[in-house]
Amino acid sequence: MEQKPPGCASASSTDDLTCQQVTALLVEYVNDTLTPETMRAFQEHLRDCADCLAYLRTYRATIRALGTVRYEDIPAALQDRLLSFLHTRLTRAPQSFLDGRDPG
Ligand SMILES: [Zn+2]
Repeated sequence: MEQKPPGCASASSTDDLTCQQVTALLVEYVNDTLTPETMRAFQEHLRDCADCLAYLRTYRATIRALGTVRYEDIPAALQDRLLSFLHTRLTRAPQSFLDGRDPG
């Protein structure tokens, strides 16, 4: 029993990274601790994913602004902010769901 994602005619075996994985790998990426294989998959994802690319730039800019700070040293609030940034871009709703409720 095998399940393949729809719309992936010629998908690589394990080279595909999800946006979540890329987000998690950002730390290792900026610290240059990724394996060559992962680095390649990471960069290939960035080619096709403008959201993750924007996230990476934001992340790097944040690090620069703060100086030589590691991800663990970044306040949790800021980490949350960075993640929500990506999350918002990925799940941007056409309309405010809070305001479009049906009374039922
Ligand atoms: Zn992505």
